[in-house]
Parts: sequence; structure tokens; C-alpha cells
Amino acid sequence: MLSVEKARDTILSHLKTLPLEKVSLENALGRYLAEDIVSSIEIPTSNNSAMDGYAVRCEDISSAGTTLTISSVLPAGATIPAGADAVVKREDTKETQGSVTIQNVPKRHEHIRFRGEDITIGATVLSAGDLIGPAQVGVLASLRRLVVPVHQRPVVAVIATGDEIAEIDETVSPEKITSSNSYTLISLVRASGGIPLYLGIAKDSRDDLKNKLDEARRSDLILTSGGVSMGDYDIVRALMSEDGNTLVFWKVDMKPGRPLAFGSLAGIPAIGLPGNPVSTMTSFYQFARPAILKMMGARNLLLPRIRARLATALEHTGDRPHFMRGVLEKKAEDLSVRPTGPQGSGILTSMASGNCFIVLPKGKTHVDQGEYVECEVYHEIGLL
Ligand code: AMP
Ligand code: MG
Repeated sequence: MLSVEKARDTILSHLKTLPLEKVSLENALGRYLAEDIVSSIEIPTSNNSAMDGYAVRCEDISSAGTTLTISSVLPAGATIPAGADAVVKREDTKETQGSVTIQNVPKRHEHIRFRGEDITIGATVLSAGDLIGPAQVGVLASLRRLVVPVHQRPVVAVIATGDEIAEIDETVSPEKITSSNSYTLISLVRASGGIPLYLGIAKDSRDDLKNKLDEARRSDLILTSGGVSMGDYDIVRALMSEDGNTLVFWKVDMKPGRPLAFGSLAGIPAIGLPGNPVSTMTSFYQFARPAILKMMGARNLLLPRIRARLATALEHTGDRPHFMRGVLEKKAEDLSVRPTGPQGSGILTSMASGNCFIVLPKGKTHVDQGEYVECEVYHEIGLL
């Protein structure tokens, strides 16, 4: 069976980064740069004062208590007059009418921000593939880039499947299952930077799914949930196997999330995610998130990995790599992680109460308390 890495590489090899578009700086947050940003100016643009105070020539101040005549007071950020080689902050002076007593001998270059010390002309300040966060927005603003080249965001069609699945607001018999996957998938797409296009729940019939696909034609990627396991109703996998569509692979060596289908539907790349809510999310993070990030031009496609000490010993079958849900937290000087509790693929609260996947490799059946394990972070960690 395909490994997680091979399956992910296969999916990524079928996807292209989307074309460039220009967005205004205030809409650039969360996007990925499509080009290197090379500065044509220096920042700061002139030598300026880091403090409110007095620009001085160090040679004029041989000892503390030297009194000088004031020609002007510099506010922070003001250009340093030619010849001055330090700024004495106002708190370190005593002002009398027209003159100032310097209480400490200044060091050369003290409190001066030099022209170009942050950014020089010709410097590659940001690189293609960088995620634009608040700091990058600030750097772009200081370079006066009102328009930013980024890659387009993919439109990601989301389709749930299953006769037993109902919309949240449907009045239904109690045995129906509310489609939580519709909501997790829409949220996961959005959190990854994609534009979700929700197409509802398809019944377990190929015709119903085909109808939904008509609307998916304007998407860049299709995500389905359910209909990929072994039973009679595995309509997603069945439809991928039909003429005009493709089934590239089915099943990945992982727990949870083994029944994953990848191929194309109506000419659009499609990832058939398993239906069980934890499997849906786990597979999304392993396969769909990297796919969306690649289309958006991101350099880093994987969840951040961090090593932490296990708070309790763990046993697992070892037959497949296991993505257990865990709680990663700071304990004394160490990062500690513990499983969230019941790990069934239907226990969605195991995702909600956790913040990481504890990745137990295949073949590892026992992990001791205190042993280091690899964790993939999917939600914020309290690091106080
Ligand atoms: P399937 O892979 O289609 O056999 O789905 C397996 C199980 O996952 C179903 O029996 C449901 O319990 C659950 N499931 C499938 N789709 C959804 C959904 N949209 N929302 C919540 N649970 C679902
Ligand atoms: Mg089903």
C-alpha cells in the first residue's frame, strides 16, 4: 500500500501552482509571494535619530558634565545633521536656557539608525513562496509596494456523500447523521487559504454525484467526503473509475484515513476523502492542505513538526503509521504531549480537544513515557 509520503508526492505531481495575480497590499495577508521582492530604495532612507535628544560630535564631549549650546532638538526619526556622530537622549541631559549639559559621555554612533541598515538597494528582502504575514505586509509597506504579486487562490469544491447524511438544518429522522464534514471541510479549505465552493450532499448514487460535479467544473480541486471505502455504495471511487475520469490511486498506509482515493472527476483533480470525521480531517491535513498550498505557491507545504516528550506510555499495533490526536503543551522546560483520549475515527472531539497529531511510525508498537515523539501541529499551542 502507498505510504503517506508517496501518496502526497503523487497528488502534488498532478497539481500546478496557479497563475499570478496582483492584489492590493491590504489584501495580501495570508497569500504567497509570486516573485522575489528586490528593494530599489534604502531603509532607513537617511541617518536618523532613534531617540528624542541631541545630535552631538563625540569629540566635543570629553567628560560627563560638558555643556554645549543647543542649535536644535531632534525628535526621534529626524535626520541627523551632517558631522554629528551620536545622539544623546533627552533623559541623559540637563537643559538650561539655550544650552544643555551632557551627563554621560556618549559612545560613537549611539542612538543613530543608519541609512540602509535595515534594507540596502538591490537586497532581496522577501522571496517567492514566502507567506505574507503581518511583518511581510509591513516590509512591503516600507518599500511602498501598494500592489503585491501573489498566486491565485484555488476554488475548492466540497461535496459530502451518503444517503444517511443530512444537512445541519434539515428536519430528519434521528438516525440520520449531521454532515459535520461539510463544515470542517469548508473551514479547513478557508484556513488553508483556498476559496470553498460548497455543493451539498450527494446521495449514494452516481447520477446524483454527477449532477453535483456539473457545478464543480469551475473549481481547481474537488474534495469529497465518504464513498471511498469497501462497500457497495463507494460511489466516489466508482465514478473515478468510469470513462472520462481517472483513479490514480486508492488507499494509503495510514491510520486513520486508509480509504483515500485520488484522481480526477469532470477533468478536475479530485481527492476522495474518507467519511469518518477524524479520518476526513487527518487526510485533509496530509493531502488536501499541501495540495491547496502548492496551488497558492507556498514553499512549505507540511504542518510544522515538533518533537515532544510523551507524558504517558503508548501502545499501538504498529501495522500502519498512526496519527493520534494529542495535546501539546509546555511543561517546565520541555514540550510535553499526551493523547486526547479515545482515538476512534468517529470521535471528532478528539480533534477538537487536541492541537497536534502524534505521529507514531509503522512498526513502533510501544513508546515509553518520557520518550520523544514527532508531533504535527494543527492548532495553536499554549506556550506560557
Ligand atoms: P463512508 O466512507 O461513506 O462509508 O462513511 C463512513 C462513515 O463516516 C459514515 O457512516 C458516517 O458515520 C461518517 N460520515 C460520512 N460522511 C459524513 C459527513 N458528511 N459528516 C459526518 N460524518 C460523516
Ligand atoms: Mg458513505
